[in-house]
Amino acid sequence: MEREWELRALCRGYDPEIWFSTETVAQAKALCMQECPVQEECLEATLARESQTADTSRAGIFAGLTGAQRAAVAAERRGQLPVAATTAPPGSGRPPAPCGTRSAYNRHLRKGEPVDAACRAANNRAYAEYRATGSTKASTRR
Ligand code: SF4
Ligand SMILES: [Zn+2]
Repeated sequence: MEREWELRALCRGYDPEIWFSTETVAQAKALCMQECPVQEECLEATLARESQTADTSRAGIFAGLTGAQRAAVAAERRGQLPVAATTAPPGSGRPPAPCGTRSAYNRHLRKGEPVDAACRAANNRAYAEYRATGSTKASTRR
Protein backbone atom coordinates (compact mmCIF):
# COMPACT_ATOMS: atom_id res chain seq x y z
CA MET A 1 0.00 0.00 0.00
CA GLU A 2 1.19 3.44 -0.84
CA ARG A 3 1.81 5.94 1.90
CA GLU A 4 0.73 9.55 1.60
CA TRP A 5 4.27 10.91 1.39
CA GLU A 6 5.13 8.57 -1.46
CA LEU A 7 2.66 10.44 -3.62
CA ARG A 8 4.80 13.55 -3.11
CA ALA A 9 8.11 11.81 -3.85
CA LEU A 10 10.02 13.72 -6.48
CA CYS A 11 11.38 10.55 -8.07
CA ARG A 12 7.89 9.47 -9.10
CA GLY A 13 8.10 11.88 -12.01
CA TYR A 14 11.48 10.65 -13.24
CA ASP A 15 13.06 7.61 -14.79
CA PRO A 16 13.85 5.38 -11.76
CA GLU A 17 17.09 4.37 -13.45
CA ILE A 18 18.54 7.73 -12.36
CA TRP A 19 18.48 6.44 -8.76
CA PHE A 20 19.99 3.08 -9.63
CA SER A 21 22.62 3.75 -12.28
CA THR A 22 26.21 4.33 -11.21
CA GLU A 23 26.45 6.93 -13.99
CA THR A 24 23.86 9.24 -12.44
CA VAL A 25 24.69 9.13 -8.75
CA ALA A 26 25.37 12.87 -8.55
CA GLN A 27 22.14 13.71 -10.33
CA ALA A 28 20.10 11.44 -8.09
CA LYS A 29 21.68 12.87 -4.95
CA ALA A 30 21.04 16.43 -6.10
CA LEU A 31 17.39 15.70 -6.83
CA CYS A 32 16.89 14.09 -3.43
CA MET A 33 18.82 16.69 -1.48
CA GLN A 34 17.70 19.84 -3.20
CA GLU A 35 14.26 19.22 -4.52
CA CYS A 36 12.46 16.30 -2.93
CA PRO A 37 9.96 17.41 -0.26
CA VAL A 38 9.82 14.02 1.46
CA GLN A 39 13.50 13.27 1.94
CA GLU A 40 13.07 12.73 5.66
CA GLU A 41 10.18 10.29 5.29
CA CYS A 42 12.10 8.54 2.53
CA LEU A 43 15.16 8.08 4.73
CA GLU A 44 13.14 6.63 7.60
CA ALA A 45 11.20 4.28 5.32
CA THR A 46 14.34 3.16 3.52
CA LEU A 47 16.25 2.46 6.71
CA ALA A 48 13.27 0.49 8.01
CA ARG A 49 12.95 -1.47 4.78
CA GLU A 50 16.67 -2.22 4.76
CA SER A 51 16.89 -3.16 8.41
CA GLN A 52 17.53 -6.80 7.51
CA THR A 53 19.58 -6.01 4.40
CA ALA A 54 23.31 -6.65 4.35
CA ASP A 55 25.19 -3.35 4.22
CA THR A 56 26.73 -4.26 0.87
CA SER A 57 23.32 -5.04 -0.64
CA ARG A 58 21.74 -1.64 -0.07
CA ALA A 59 21.09 -0.68 -3.68
CA GLY A 60 20.35 2.67 -5.22
CA ILE A 61 20.26 6.23 -3.96
CA PHE A 62 17.57 6.97 -1.39
CA ALA A 63 17.08 10.24 0.46
CA GLY A 64 20.26 11.45 -1.20
CA LEU A 65 22.37 8.71 0.35
CA THR A 66 24.26 5.84 -1.23
CA GLY A 67 23.88 2.36 0.20
CA ALA A 68 27.18 2.74 2.03
CA GLN A 69 26.06 6.04 3.51
CA ARG A 70 22.78 4.53 4.67
CA ALA A 71 24.70 1.67 6.23
CA ALA A 72 26.75 4.28 8.10
CA VAL A 73 23.62 6.06 9.31
CA ALA A 74 22.15 2.75 10.47
CA ALA A 75 25.37 1.84 12.26
CA GLU A 76 25.53 5.24 13.90
CA ARG A 77 21.96 4.87 15.15
CA ARG A 78 22.54 1.34 16.38
CA GLY A 79 25.52 2.54 18.34
CA GLN A 80 23.55 5.52 19.59
CA LEU A 81 26.62 7.62 19.02
CA PRO A 82 26.15 11.08 20.40
CA VAL A 83 26.25 13.57 17.55
CA ALA A 84 26.97 17.21 18.22
CA ALA A 85 24.76 18.80 15.59
CA THR A 86 26.14 22.30 15.74
CA THR A 87 29.75 21.62 16.73
CA ALA A 88 32.37 21.62 14.04
CA PRO A 89 34.58 18.52 13.97
CA PRO A 90 38.04 19.33 15.33
CA GLY A 91 40.31 20.79 12.72
CA SER A 92 37.58 21.71 10.28
CA GLY A 93 37.84 25.33 9.26
CA ARG A 94 34.29 26.26 8.46
CA PRO A 95 31.62 26.02 11.15
CA PRO A 96 28.59 24.00 10.07
CA ALA A 97 25.40 25.82 9.11
CA PRO A 98 23.31 26.56 12.18
CA CYS A 99 19.93 24.96 12.79
CA GLY A 100 17.10 26.67 10.97
CA THR A 101 18.81 26.45 7.58
CA ARG A 102 18.39 23.96 4.81
CA SER A 103 22.08 23.10 4.95
CA ALA A 104 21.65 22.07 8.55
CA TYR A 105 18.54 20.10 7.62
CA ASN A 106 20.50 18.19 4.98
CA ARG A 107 23.36 17.64 7.39
CA HIS A 108 20.95 16.12 9.93
CA LEU A 109 19.71 13.70 7.28
CA ARG A 110 23.22 12.82 6.13
CA LYS A 111 24.31 12.11 9.67
CA GLY A 112 21.11 10.38 10.70
CA GLU A 113 20.46 13.03 13.34
CA PRO A 114 16.97 13.86 14.51
CA VAL A 115 15.56 16.80 12.55
CA ASP A 116 14.43 19.67 14.76
CA ALA A 117 11.47 21.92 14.05
CA ALA A 118 13.61 24.89 12.95
CA CYS A 119 15.43 22.85 10.33
CA ARG A 120 12.24 21.17 9.12
CA ALA A 121 10.63 24.60 8.72
CA ALA A 122 13.66 25.87 6.80
CA ASN A 123 13.45 22.90 4.47
CA ASN A 124 9.74 23.44 3.93
CA ARG A 125 10.33 27.12 3.17
CA ALA A 126 13.02 26.25 0.67
CA TYR A 127 10.75 23.75 -0.99
CA ALA A 128 7.86 26.23 -1.17
CA GLU A 129 10.24 28.73 -2.72
CA TYR A 130 11.38 26.17 -5.22
CA ARG A 131 7.79 25.45 -6.17
CA ALA A 132 7.15 29.17 -6.61
CA THR A 133 10.34 30.18 -8.41
CA GLY A 134 11.86 26.99 -9.79
CA SER A 135 15.02 27.66 -7.81
CA THR A 136 16.26 27.06 -4.28
CA LYS A 137 19.22 29.41 -4.71
CA ALA A 138 17.82 32.11 -2.44
CA SER A 139 17.50 29.58 0.38
CA THR A 140 20.68 27.64 -0.08
CA ARG A 141 22.67 30.89 0.09
CA ARG A 142 21.59 31.44 3.65
S1 SF4 B 1 14.45 11.55 -1.28
FE1 SF4 B 1 15.08 10.85 -3.31
S2 SF4 B 1 14.67 8.67 -3.36
FE2 SF4 B 1 13.55 9.53 -1.63
S3 SF4 B 1 11.52 9.98 -2.38
FE3 SF4 B 1 12.72 11.83 -2.64
S4 SF4 B 1 13.59 11.75 -4.68
FE4 SF4 B 1 12.85 9.69 -4.19
ZN1 LIG C 1 18.73 21.51 13.03
